[in-house]
Formats: sequence, C-alpha cells, structure tokens
Amino acid sequence: MDLEIGEEQAAVRQLARDFVAREITPHVVAWDRAESVDRGIVKKLGALGFLGLTIDEEYGGSGGDHLAYCLVTEELGRGDSSVRGIVSVSLGLVAKTVAAYGTEEQKRRWLPRLTAGESVGCFGLTEPGTGSDAGNLATRAVRDGGDYVINGAKMFITNGTWADVVLLFARTGDAPGHKGVSAFLVPTDTPGLTRRTIHGKLGLRGQATAELVFEDVRVPAGALLGREGKGFSIAMSALAKGRMSVAAGCVGIAQAALEAAVGYAGEREQFGRPIAHHQLVQELISDIAVDVDAARLLTWRVAGLVDRGEDFATAASKAKLFASEAAVRAANNALQVFGGYGYIDEYPVGKLLRDARVMTLYEGTSQIQKLIIGRALTGVSAF
Ligand SMILES: Cc1cc2nc3c(=O)[nH]c(=O)nc-3n(C[C@H](O)[C@H](O)[C@H](O)COP(=O)(O)OP(=O)(O)OC[C@H]3O[C@@H](n4cnc5c(N)ncnc54)[C@H](O)[C@@H]3O)c2cc1C
Repeated sequence: MDLEIGEEQAAVRQLARDFVAREITPHVVAWDRAESVDRGIVKKLGALGFLGLTIDEEYGGSGGDHLAYCLVTEELGRGDSSVRGIVSVSLGLVAKTVAAYGTEEQKRRWLPRLTAGESVGCFGLTEPGTGSDAGNLATRAVRDGGDYVINGAKMFITNGTWADVVLLFARTGDAPGHKGVSAFLVPTDTPGLTRRTIHGKLGLRGQATAELVFEDVRVPAGALLGREGKGFSIAMSALAKGRMSVAAGCVGIAQAALEAAVGYAGEREQFGRPIAHHQLVQELISDIAVDVDAARLLTWRVAGLVDRGEDFATAASKAKLFASEAAVRAANNALQVFGGYGYIDEYPVGKLLRDARVMTLYEGTSQIQKLIIGRALTGVSAF
C-alpha cells in the first residue's frame, strides 16, 4: 500500500488549504452564530472543481481520484464541517450516485449543475419514524399513468432547505422492507414539496438541515433513478462511499483540534511556564496526534480500495467508526488543553467538539457501523 500522496494530489490539497484560509476561516464564528454559512460558498466550491471531484469531465466534473477527494474533504472539514457537509452530500451522496446509476438524460440534466455549484443536492433517506432502520421507510410513490405521486416526510436532511434536487427514497409496490424501496430525483420546486429548516442543532449550525414534506408530489416516470425496487441498494452503495467522506471530514476536525491545542499550549502560561511544559498537557496532545494519524490512515486505505475497484464497504465502516469517535475525543482533549477558554466560541475548539458530535450519528450510527463490521466478519446479520 502506497502511503505517499502524489504531486497532483498535493497540489489539490494546497488549493483546498488556501481556499479554507481565504474563504472559510475568517467567517467561521459568524456563520456558526448566524446558523448559516454564506450560500455564495457553493459557487466558489464549484468554481475550484471541489464539487466535481471524481466525476467525468464530460458531465462537468473535475476528475481526480478518491484520495484527492478525501484530501479536499479533510481540508474543508478542518475549516468548517458545515461547508464540508455541503460537498459530502451534494457531490458525495447525490452527484456520484447520479453518475453511477443515472440514465444519460439524468446525468446531462443534473451533473453539470451540481458540479458547478449552480444546483445543490440533498439525500432524503431518514424519516421521522425510521433512522437506523431505513429499509422500513414509509414514504410512498404510487404509479399514476406516466407519473409517480409521492406522499411522506423526510427528517434531518442536510442541505435540505437549499437543495434544488432531492435524491429521494420511497416505497413503490407492495414488497416488504428494503425490497420495496425505489430512488427518485425530485426537483425541490415541484408543487406539494414543503421544507422546514431545523434550528437549535448542537453543532453544524451553519448547515441548512431540514424536514421535507411531500403531499401529492407528482413526478414523471423519468424521475426514477435505477430500477424499481433497487432503491435501498442504491442508498447503501451511496452511503458506503459517503462514510469515507465523513471519515475524511473527521480527520479534518481532529487535525484542527491538534493544531489549536499545540498552538495554545505553547502560548498559555501557568505556574510560570507555557502549559506545553506540563506532562499531562503533553499527554492530551499526543493522544490527539495518534487519533489523527490512525483516522487518516484508515481513511486513505478506503480511498485506495475505491480507486483500485476493490471491495471497500467494510473498510469504509471501520474508517467512519474510528474517525468519528476519534474526532469527538480529539476535540474534547483540545478543549481540555484550552481550559475555560475552550468553553466559549471565540476559540475554535468548542465548535469542533459540537460539530464532531454528529459524526457518530449520521450516515449510520457507531452502533450500526459495528453491526456492519460484525456481519462482514461473522457472516451473520444482526439487523
Ligand atoms: C445534523 C444531521 C444531519 C443529517 N443528514 C441526513 C441526510 O442528509 N439525509 C438523511 O437521510 N439522514 C440524515 N440524518 C439522519 C441520520 O442519518 C440519522 O439520525 C441516523 O441514521 C440515526 O437515526 P435516528 O436519529 O432515527 O436514530 P435511531 O435509529 O432511532 O437510533 C437511536 C439509537 O438507537 C441505536 N440503535 C438503533 N438500532 C440499533 C440496533 N439495531 N442495534 C443497536 N443499536 C441500535 C442507535 O445507534 C442510536 O444510538 C442527519 C442527522 C443529523 C442529526
């Protein structure tokens, strides 16, 4: 396994680093307090090709491999997880799924806009009554002549209020559980679709998280993505790659925690010397550093597996499980280094901890990742 990054990958990482320093870092506190990042950031992400990574140039993408995608995602996560999430969902869960399963018409309609940042995508799987048990979702799409008519609700949808298109998972036909689920591309201006922004989140406050309600939403049969009844496997394959992206974002959070803790420990003096001289502070910092390295290596391994066309789903669950728990630990340790100053939002570590906390919940909780890994090892499904 090659653990070095190439010249092109280093260049794209530097591009992302410069972008974060210029366009994100100066605004992070204000966006967090305002509960919204500046929407203009989407077009800026598109202009640099960050919303088109791994997508064919023929459809407006910027190409590149999954390691480059992870490097950019890490840098964005280091800057602001709310911005990183826009890319992980609009590109990672929506555009990449359209590229993998879409008809030529669907690809031509949606990919150039999504990759340019002219449109935003969201991923509608979770419902008020079904989260971990997503295969039992209740939203229905009933065939009516040449159309489908959709009724139901989706909960906690990242980019939900901003999105122009929702990759929606709904039940078609009578097959039980996940066998009856199909995927649709639904423009969010379709009559009958309403959205409510969810406020009061612990973290990711800058992100447009929403509840979506579908009341007799009529879409043509051409909105179906893939075949009827294949929606759940489409969702699971999207989420497997999505977990790599979440893991990369978590590496970014942990890296930011490390940099903040090292910087502060060198400046803050107690007992007549910088706190970095106290061995128990060094322990906190070294624990963060080990978490950063381990999470990054697990994440890069997934990128390599994807790029070589090998099985990656279990490795992605391992990376997501470890990196998300590591990001929480790292941010918490950094907050300890900052003492009382870590507890107020003029300093970065409190936000890192708040943002990290959701990573063990979405795209499959830590418990669900353990069940996926356990199933792969034992051949027995605990679901
Ligand atoms: C900020 C945010 C953004 C999100 N973005 C999106 C999005 O863009 N699209 C989308 O579709 N969803 C999104 N989600 C939803 C997210 O994926 C779900 O919250 C998550 O899957 C968990 O579902 P739940 O909240 O219903 O918890 P539940 O499934 O009710 O789980 C509650 C607890 O029970 C545990 N549990 C459940 N089943 C088992 C089991 N079999 N064995 C052991 N433990 C179990 C869980 O691990 C958890 O600890 C988002 C959520 C948040 C908070």
